[in-house]
Amino acid sequence: MRSLLHVIQGYVGLSALMVHSKPYHDSEEMLPMCYRCSTYNPLMTSTANCCTNCRQPFVHSFVSFEVLPLVEFQLESGISDEEAVNLIEAPTPVTEETNQTRGWLQSESDTFQTIQFDESPADIKDPFTARLMNFENLGDEFEPVIVSQATLQAMEPSTILICRWPPPLRYQFYRNLLPDLQITLCNSCNKVFHVDDFELQVLQKGHCPFCRSTTQHSGNEVNEVTTL
Ligand SMILES: [Zn+2]
Ligand SMILES: [Zn+2]
Repeated sequence: MRSLLHVIQGYVGLSALMVHSKPYHDSEEMLPMCYRCSTYNPLMTSTANCCTNCRQPFVHSFVSFEVLPLVEFQLESGISDEEAVNLIEAPTPVTEETNQTRGWLQSESDTFQTIQFDESPADIKDPFTARLMNFENLGDEFEPVIVSQATLQAMEPSTILICRWPPPLRYQFYRNLLPDLQITLCNSCNKVFHVDDFELQVLQKGHCPFCRSTTQHSGNEVNEVTTL
């Protein structure tokens, strides 16, 4: 009996060692993904709440604390906050769209028809996305996405979230990379949330879940830009 106990103890001890010796991998679905460079980040990192690859800070919802698909961008020097807002809201300049600019080339003959798709980053119509795809971080320092006037003008206003901080602070601009996922912000504390989470909290509690402000703009010009 005693020898059997020893055998079982030895077996349990050996099994415990074998379990610990296996490398542990989290499922990718559980890991926070950086929406700027598409890197899956480990849950425990030495960097403080930012991507280990490109150092872009994560933006969390202040209800669920999920990482939101927002990438903050900065303005080129010389562009004021108000000017940037006007450029974003201005209609996108219409360029004549040919097959070449749409990213494909069609050729026909008597016996065949071909369509050739071209998806090189240089041909991406959205300059912001092209900038993200061409990104290469050479150093350890965080390099923010900096946008020009032309890039601002090409942006779809419904994909931009603007935190309008009072002076002397500058505005913060975010681009929603998954426009189907609606994101909004509180006009009082500028915290960002999924629209559904935020509306549910406002309906249940009657105020913003973070700052408890009860004054939320609705249906005005500000909301058109800040609510995605
Ligand atoms: Zn990243
Ligand atoms: Zn708030």
